[in-house]
Amino acid sequence: MRAFIPNYQLVTPTSLSDVLNLLAQKKSGWQPFAGGTDLMVLLEAGKLPDKNYLNIWNLAELRGIEVSPEHVTLGALTTYTEVQSNPILREEFPMLCQAASETGGLAIQNRGTLGGNIANASPAADSPPALLAYDAELELVSVNGRRWVPYQNFHTGYKQMIMRADELLARIRLPRATTDLHQYYRKVGTRKAQAISKVCFAATARIFEGTVADVRIVLGSVAPVPLRCIKTEDVLRGAKLDLSSIEQAQAVLAGEIVPIDDIRSTRDYRLRVSLNLLEDFLQGLNTKAPRPVGT
Ligand SMILES: Cc1cc2nc3c(=O)[nH]c(=O)nc-3n(C[C@H](O)[C@H](O)[C@H](O)COP(=O)(O)OP(=O)(O)OC[C@H]3O[C@@H](n4cnc5c(N)ncnc54)[C@H](O)[C@@H]3O)c2cc1C
Repeated sequence: MRAFIPNYQLVTPTSLSDVLNLLAQKKSGWQPFAGGTDLMVLLEAGKLPDKNYLNIWNLAELRGIEVSPEHVTLGALTTYTEVQSNPILREEFPMLCQAASETGGLAIQNRGTLGGNIANASPAADSPPALLAYDAELELVSVNGRRWVPYQNFHTGYKQMIMRADELLARIRLPRATTDLHQYYRKVGTRKAQAISKVCFAATARIFEGTVADVRIVLGSVAPVPLRCIKTEDVLRGAKLDLSSIEQAQAVLAGEIVPIDDIRSTRDYRLRVSLNLLEDFLQGLNTKAPRPVGT
């Protein structure tokens, strides 16, 4: 049943400091409202609990994509459409662009934000696996100052994160060390578009003289959080890729992920698909060259 609208309050502060001051007022329970694409679904379903919302859509400090020699830094309000149309992201971070292009339809891509996708903390969200595979960092701001945290430490349990109620996610920073990097991203859903992931797989690797010099493997929809698969990475680092090492990595991955049966899929299907995607990614490292940056 739809929520009773007069119970809700949405205000539009004109500056970041006004937003942070309101978030710091613990008792009034203000929450950020960015694109609203997750929050409006809850409102329509009558499941939106908090009554006080801060419209942050107009905050210039949370917008824009900055490029330095070391990093690309995206404002938390960067939309999926903006991600896809940015030349540097297209060249160096194609997994993020692919995730953006496979998120919802055009209306969602125009309005949904990366910050909202991260802060909504769904384990089935599509941009977190790519961001984790790129070793992203997040900037959290509050009246007490700013802090950068590794995204890898951000999600602590189902819908739980280290961001405090008085903090706002301001920016997302990606290291530009993408030369010679193999990149692999797959979203598996019921359909090719407008589907929530059954499994999402993002991975990067560097190969040196036939062995895995470095690798990052991240899966969505197979654990309470978007999961960086550290144990699987550890058995692969330094390994030559052959049938035996690929099977060993699959065995470790099977013990590392915790897929469940739910409305979208089954535990067994998710496990099988995860192992198949790992094999496909690893086989490709032997047969495909990394995509050169700038092509
Ligand atoms: C039809 C439809 C299809 C969708 N398809 C997909 C899909 O394919 N893949 C996918 O991953 N998602 C999908 N989504 C979910 C949604 O669009 C994304 O999660 C989107 O990125 C949310 O961003 P938003 O700005 O709209 O967040 P909002 O709805 O505004 O906020 C979501 C949560 O994040 C918090 N929040 C937002 N911004 C900040 C911030 N800067 N700092 C702190 N907290 C913040 C809010 O308080 C709220 O709790 C879909 C949604 C719909 C309705």
